[in-house]
Amino acid sequence: MKFNKVVFSFLIVVIVVSCATNPFTGKKTMAFVSNDQLFPSAFAQYNQVMSESKVITGTADSEMIKRVGQRISVAAERWLNANGHQGYLEDYKWEYNLIESEQVNAWCMPGGKIAFYTGILPVAENETAIAAIMGHEVVHALANHGQQRMSAAYVQQGLAVVGNVALANDEQSLGIFNQSFGIASNVAGILPFSRAHETEADKVGLIIMAIAGYNPDEAPELWKRMNAASGGQAPPEFLSSHPANETRIKNLQELAPNAKAEAKKFGVTSFRPIN
Ligand SMILES: [Zn+2]
Repeated sequence: MKFNKVVFSFLIVVIVVSCATNPFTGKKTMAFVSNDQLFPSAFAQYNQVMSESKVITGTADSEMIKRVGQRISVAAERWLNANGHQGYLEDYKWEYNLIESEQVNAWCMPGGKIAFYTGILPVAENETAIAAIMGHEVVHALANHGQQRMSAAYVQQGLAVVGNVALANDEQSLGIFNQSFGIASNVAGILPFSRAHETEADKVGLIIMAIAGYNPDEAPELWKRMNAASGGQAPPEFLSSHPANETRIKNLQELAPNAKAEAKKFGVTSFRPIN
């Protein structure tokens, strides 16, 4: 009986899952729900998080988050356009907010809804590192990695999902939504991204930060600091979804020259000083 229910749920999930082309790999990937269905839910969820949080405005830090966010979104659009994906960001409604919280975390929801927590600022240390985090998170959102994690979580739990899933206001659905997009939640822990998703976000994130005029050499330095920040105590939220190891840091160091070469194609030949 229980087995039948699981199989039936799985079938429903398979039916609503459709294929979309990942702009970064050119491959067809599973998209759980369309932007039309997901974005209104994500926007509502984002507004709810903001209404329940202390959003900082009018400070040097909050202005910096907005400035970096605008530069990163412009760079992402230029990169997408140059790679034959005009109109990809049509439905995006970019927003960049700084939330007062000790959590060492930052995330980007579907549709370009970004949050940074003040707890990540001392680890980032500088604007260039903020751009590295932002570029990385934006690539997760553009490539629909969160949607893929959400569908996987539903399939694992044998839950039937039809239509506008994120609007379902039961705790379990909201928990899965928050986990899938790396949003800290009291309901559940945060799922780690897959290694393939991380590699993709690292590689393209570096390119986007470089096009935005930020030196990609700072990205591996940021990850070293992120590791150090976890010393002895519970790891930062950002690290629980983003394990930082020697391999990752080495890969970022190796990928930085490629990001600079890509940025050169967009006329970027020098970077802002790291401070
Ligand atoms: Zn990531």
